Amino acid sequence: MFIRKAPVNEGAAPVSARRDRAGRRQLLLAAAATAAGIPLMIGAAAIGEVPWKPVLIWAPLSLGMNLFAWTALRFGWTEGWRDPGLTAAQIAWSIASTAACYAMLGPLRAAALPMLALALLFAIFALPARTVRWLAAWTLALYGAVMLLMSWLQPVRYPPAEAVITFGALLVSVPVMSLLALRMSELRTQLGRQKGELEVALARIRELAERDELTGLFNRRRATEALLAHRAHAVRSGGTFAVAMADIDRFKAVNDGHGHAGGDAVLRAFAAAARGELREIDNIARWGGEEFLIVFEAVDSESAAVAAERVRRRAEEIEVGLPGGGTHRVTVSIGLASWRDGEPVEALIDRADRALYRAKAEGRNRVVTA
Ligand code: GH3
Ligand code: MG
Ligand code: MG
Repeated sequence: MFIRKAPVNEGAAPVSARRDRAGRRQLLLAAAATAAGIPLMIGAAAIGEVPWKPVLIWAPLSLGMNLFAWTALRFGWTEGWRDPGLTAAQIAWSIASTAACYAMLGPLRAAALPMLALALLFAIFALPARTVRWLAAWTLALYGAVMLLMSWLQPVRYPPAEAVITFGALLVSVPVMSLLALRMSELRTQLGRQKGELEVALARIRELAERDELTGLFNRRRATEALLAHRAHAVRSGGTFAVAMADIDRFKAVNDGHGHAGGDAVLRAFAAAARGELREIDNIARWGGEEFLIVFEAVDSESAAVAAERVRRRAEEIEVGLPGGGTHRVTVSIGLASWRDGEPVEALIDRADRALYRAKAEGRNRVVTA
């Protein structure tokens, strides 16, 4: 058998076992168990307990089915099927195979039962409870038929009384196994739900750790990480990048005149407008207070100056609706610096900062390049 990883959610498409270590181990185990059955049967024939003829039919059939399943999985023939791992089909086949062995083995037939238990165990681990119930019914029907047939055809080799008692034991144990499958299914569903909840929580934590709550932009921590990554990439590829430090002009007056909520509205409006003005690959972050850091990906200082100028002009156009009614217009000063070969990010930010101070000193609402 080539068992793929059990779906975490019932009905969800199983993940490819090849990518999953536990799944691969399960697959190897199943293959080894099936392969071990073949020498056992040949051994039973060699010591004269089983006739050669049925063994020589059964062994290549068993091997062929395994090879077929392996090839189908390996080349993705079953991708998109409801059970692309063919797990249910392979287990149903294995159960039938153990029933055939039971019919062949005569006095050694007890050896088939642990193999049957193994196939059912794989079913419990790999399949939804509904499918396990079908396989339980399949097991009882097959073994019932084999026992009836063998006791009828060879009553000395297969005493009917023994068949009745063995079948009684199967009648008790197989349905209990399918109940265990139900419990396993519940555990898998629970695990899937918990995994989903954890993923949501993790996404939220990540969001909190890297976003500024007021503007929704990246925060200073995330911006610093991005800067370091940009620098590393530029060093590797021989490329470049530029940063702009943007500071809203006379922001204190907004707070003083319109309250803190008015100031917050201005910050949000500028953040959204600036974001809209930038390319997808450029980054804007709230560096602190009313200062924003923009990272221009892979551009020279002229192109960065054009983009920064666009942001400055866009800021002039914003009419911020204030919480107390009315609107407010803002301007922004921007200091721009292009990365120089080998320059640490702190030095780059410092140059952008100094350019920003010059922009303020020269009368605000302008872009100054370092
Ligand atoms: P300049 O043109 O020289 O930049 O003047 P300015 O008033 O913008 O600069 P200053 O640094 O004097 O004032 C910045 C103000 O920003 C001070 C602080 O109260 C305000 N501020 C910082 N963070 C926030 C915030 O999250 N919300 C609000 N509403 N105000 C903030
Ligand atoms: Mg400031
Ligand atoms: Mg300011």
